[in-house]
Amino acid sequence: MPRPIVAEIHPNAVRHNLEVARQKVAGARIWGIVKADAYGHGIERIYAGLDAADGIGLLDLNEAVRVRELGWTKPILLLEGIFTTEDVQIADRYRLTTAVHCDEQLALLASCKATRPIDIYLKMNSGMNRLGFAPDVYRAAWDRARECVNIGEITLMNHFANADEGEVDWQMDRFDATTAGMPGQRSLANSASVLWHPRTHRDWVRPGIVLYGASPTGMAEHIADVPLQASMTLRSELIGVQTLREGETVGYGRTFTAPHAMRIGVVACGYADGYPRHAPTGTPVAVDGVKTRLVGRISMDMLTVDLTPVPAARVGSRVELWGGQIRIDDVASSAGTIGYELMCALARRVPVGIV
Ligand SMILES: *Cc1c(COP(=O)(O)O)cnc(C)c1O
Repeated sequence: MPRPIVAEIHPNAVRHNLEVARQKVAGARIWGIVKADAYGHGIERIYAGLDAADGIGLLDLNEAVRVRELGWTKPILLLEGIFTTEDVQIADRYRLTTAVHCDEQLALLASCKATRPIDIYLKMNSGMNRLGFAPDVYRAAWDRARECVNIGEITLMNHFANADEGEVDWQMDRFDATTAGMPGQRSLANSASVLWHPRTHRDWVRPGIVLYGASPTGMAEHIADVPLQASMTLRSELIGVQTLREGETVGYGRTFTAPHAMRIGVVACGYADGYPRHAPTGTPVAVDGVKTRLVGRISMDMLTVDLTPVPAARVGSRVELWGGQIRIDDVASSAGTIGYELMCALARRVPVGIV
């Protein structure tokens, strides 16, 4: 028997969440963002839930090829663009749309022979200062792109630095001022902008995290009014139970001391499964459907939980680490991170089922 831990992936939740996003963006088209192997879910596992997307966005060339080979005929967007001349050939062969964010990428596209023009997303750095052409050189880059025989349609692209904290106008104003009068479609919005900044929606939006049912801010309360469903459940079982006397401690470092006699459960899940080691005592967890809390330090293969609210719990009781009952955002914020990181960190050794 393998250990009882399992991650369940829910493609229907992705389908539902995509529909929620669609209702937010009126007529805009949607890139379903599946970078990092669909935020740790596995592209193939959630693929059925992406039917209604207008395109699929990611940044690993091998993932792009995998999506094409699954039979996806709609557009595929490389969010970081191409890195070598061979990448240009692959983009050509697999009909990929590619971001272009620097002169080197324009030069790569110009230096090859494509069988047909490649559509690009010309990325502006409107203040994030990660990738993109600064506003004062953006138009010149656009002129060069237009002259390149290997480049087809040019979409004007931007990415926001703090859409999740409410501020997009300063970047939006720079983007609009720079691109005034330029033809071409626009694509600016990530999940936070899809939810909270209608001004940014334009022609194509690029939601990622909301498709997986988690909050762009990392805080569950910020999406309390958005009917999203969790696309990943991490569950396991109790493999041991201990009864502590008042004053006894549990686990490495003895970080939790029983304030009174109590039962604790030992769960087959640890940081080697992708559970965050920084999750402190108090992090939510559910045992037999009853919400309780983690106690003590997470170890490599196990963690310990307070069984006080679940007196009937015993070896074999079901445990939900995150999913429909325990929000991944709540586990993440308790551990000082965001749902994105927990999803992406799900360990290879965890068996995965599609439910
Ligand atoms: C990851 C990414 C997105 C999606 O971001 P979410 O916050 O997950 O919605 C959109 N656009 C770009 C360029 C990205 O890299």
